[in-house]
Amino acid sequence: MEFDHWIMGHEVPIRLGCFFGVLVAVALWELLAPRRRLTVSKTVRWVNNLGLVFFNSFLLRLLFPAAAVGVAAFAAQRGWGVLHYTPVPYVLAVVLSVVAMDFIIYLQHVLVHAVPALWRLHRLHHADPDYDVTTGARFHPIEIVLSMLIKFATIVVLGPPVVAVVIFEVVLNATAMFNHGNIRLPQALDRWLRLVVVTPDMHRVHHSVEDDEANSNFGFNLPWWDRLFGTYKAQPGAGHQAMTIGIRDVRAPRMASDIDGMLILPFLGRVTPTGARPGNGAARAAAPSASRGSRHRAGPAACPSAPTGSGRSPPTYPGLSGAGTSPAGPTRLPAASAVAMTAS
Ligand SMILES: [Zn+2]
Ligand SMILES: [Zn+2]
Repeated sequence: MEFDHWIMGHEVPIRLGCFFGVLVAVALWELLAPRRRLTVSKTVRWVNNLGLVFFNSFLLRLLFPAAAVGVAAFAAQRGWGVLHYTPVPYVLAVVLSVVAMDFIIYLQHVLVHAVPALWRLHRLHHADPDYDVTTGARFHPIEIVLSMLIKFATIVVLGPPVVAVVIFEVVLNATAMFNHGNIRLPQALDRWLRLVVVTPDMHRVHHSVEDDEANSNFGFNLPWWDRLFGTYKAQPGAGHQAMTIGIRDVRAPRMASDIDGMLILPFLGRVTPTGARPGNGAARAAAPSASRGSRHRAGPAACPSAPTGSGRSPPTYPGLSGAGTSPAGPTRLPAASAVAMTAS
């Protein structure tokens, strides 16, 4: 179709325009009406988190120059995918494709929490001790690459129109930045809004150090999947101001906030299939460094709750305790495999 050709020719400026437009809008909103006080300076957060985003974008262009749009066009040319075998009106095919791809992203997100090896990668996203617009784009490069491969497979099986892929990527990117925003919304508006889109208060619950909260609200875009599959949690138990953001056992600035620490985070520590919690000794070894450094301000989120469990300590690394590689808890999900979204 003509429109598909136009979209393919303008995909990069459309995506870049939306990325920077939403980034600036949410960043200004965060300055005017912040939801929580940050524990790490904005400069440090922006340099490291956005540094990772630009590195990931560069890597994706290098590895997959055609990107998801190219795969969609290739699949369309060859008539691959369910939608090419089914006589569906074009507009309906676009809507169905966007909803289906969002469901796959939800499933991926559930699975990267359930599979220890994938959780190693995904915990970089959760290790952020604060929650702002840059958190939404903070993912390990390997997770980004795996996510892209899953997206390619989804496109080949589904056969979505090219325009649906562009809409999905732009909307997902925009909503991920919006719902990671450290922004205040009127409660009534939040209640209505979260019927159709994941809001910042809804997704913030997912970034709690508490296991049952981290294992809820997996949606990035549409909020329906969490409600449908019983993973919805309306609010954090401690409230949005008092809740602790991050991973209990990754509190040291080097590992949680610096780009080099983030990149090696998946390769440190020990993964246990049962997701056993670390001994107190290991957690204590990590905790003091969280309060060191002049760029880290004191605040509720800088003081992780007391770790549970006891017994022998796993091997420790600077600012990292071993078994904290799995967000185990009462609501821990069954194992399987896949990866999370790409926000690049
Ligand atoms: Zn997650
Ligand atoms: Zn998130």
